[in-house]
Amino acid sequence: MAERSFQCPICKFKYRTKNLAEQCEAYCKKYKSCSLEITKHAVK
Ligand SMILES: [Zn+2]
Repeated sequence: MAERSFQCPICKFKYRTKNLAEQCEAYCKKYKSCSLEITKHAVK
C-alpha cells in the first residue's frame, strides 16, 4: 500500500497529515505564498 500523504493543491508540497496540508492550502490561498512554518513540515 502506498504511503499516505496529503498534498497542497496550490504549492504542491506534500504533508504527512491532512491537517498540515489544509493549513498550507489555507495559507497559500490567503497570501499566495508559502509559510516556512508550514512548509518545513513537508515531506520530500
Ligand atoms: Zn501550500
